Amino acid sequence: RKYDSDYLWHPFTQMSEWEGADNPVITHGEGSYLIDSDGNRYLDGVAALWTNVHGHCKKEINEAIKEQVDRLEHSTLLGLTNDRAALLAKRLVDIAPSGLCKVFYSDNGSTAVEIGVKMAFQYQMQQGKPGKTKFIAFDNAYHGDTVGSMSVGGIDIYHATYKPLLFPTIKAPSTYCYRCSLCEARDPKRCGMECLKELERLMEEHAPELAGLVIEPAVQGAGGMIVQPEGYLKKVRELCDRYDVLMVADEVAVGFGRTGAMFACAKAGITPDIMALSKGISAGYLPLAATLTTRKVYDAFWGEYAELKTFFHGHTFTGNPIACAAALANLDLFESERLLENLVPKIAYLKERLQGLLALPHVGDVRHEGMIGGIELVRDRESRDPYPWEERVGVRVCLEARKHGLFLRPLGNVIVVFPPLSISMDELKILMDGIEKSIVAITG
Ligand code: PMP
Repeated sequence: RKYDSDYLWHPFTQMSEWEGADNPVITHGEGSYLIDSDGNRYLDGVAALWTNVHGHCKKEINEAIKEQVDRLEHSTLLGLTNDRAALLAKRLVDIAPSGLCKVFYSDNGSTAVEIGVKMAFQYQMQQGKPGKTKFIAFDNAYHGDTVGSMSVGGIDIYHATYKPLLFPTIKAPSTYCYRCSLCEARDPKRCGMECLKELERLMEEHAPELAGLVIEPAVQGAGGMIVQPEGYLKKVRELCDRYDVLMVADEVAVGFGRTGAMFACAKAGITPDIMALSKGISAGYLPLAATLTTRKVYDAFWGEYAELKTFFHGHTFTGNPIACAAALANLDLFESERLLENLVPKIAYLKERLQGLLALPHVGDVRHEGMIGGIELVRDRESRDPYPWEERVGVRVCLEARKHGLFLRPLGNVIVVFPPLSISMDELKILMDGIEKSIVAITG
């Protein structure tokens, strides 16, 4: 712990009062639990930052990694290939929304999205449309912390400081129904999809200069687990087709089963032009990411040698065989443990428990999609008046939850539910009971 406070600079320092403070030192993982150096066990309610699929220290994945380390630890995909990377590419294409057929590897979600942005930009140039250079991005979007991925983000608290560094985008409204500024009802049941109409207007107005649109399908994660209305993505796909705009879907958080389907785009019945994956790709084990594209996109970069056609991007750890071995073991487990089928009752239970929380006086809104929950706490339910940032209500609820043996991370005043997909029904009950008790203890 002393080395931690003396030497380690934690991510998002200052944002929550616990960073670098009295953090438990995690030394072990076991199923849905994290265990600290004092032997305390915490049910991992956020799946190691939204990545862990099959629980911690899953035997089959550990073995695949050990076996791979003894065979080949790393090589390069520049001028060589490796068997794990190639096999994984094939298996990703097999399960991806149909039409995605090429896999470009990198090693984190931000770069997977940034690669998609660069590809879309260059694609338009190669089509002889050099005027199409801009992107539609969304309010409340989060695509990562690199300069390119921040540029297509839309959460002021993360991005405002760096604004002079970022490229400008055309900002479309979020589907944040509870605080919608376009529609008076602010109720998903009476939603007139004003946000979609505004998106359409923006796309029509800017079509000649638009290269792409970057979107988190199904749920805007870091924006507060904001769920899209039914049919929304399909409409976005139609608009992209109509205005010759490449659709870049960021499935970094929602990919690999989180929505109850392998991919959110497939669940919505669409194929994006470009799809970014990370987090769950290696079941949360190792840094790995992939950007998938359709033949149409790939073909623009292929053919007789020309500098303009080269995609100038290649990370050192691209297609690392250990990470790919973990990812292959992850995909095997989806099948052998019939993970998606087993999610059905858990998703129903989560939905019911989230709905039940609306009985608490300071729960303003609950949002649910698959194995994702967002619980928005408000000072006043009638006026939807939020708790002021300085009160750190979300942080306090999560710290309270530690006393009940849970590890949670808030997003401002939103409590996030994002457990390993392998969580048992009993554990899910413990998680939801603990969350409820912690909310009551802090907000009354
Ligand atoms: N996109 C989405 C939707 C994410 O949720 C995240 C991470 N929370 C990222 C991109 C960035 O991924 P990474 O932190 O691996 O760079």
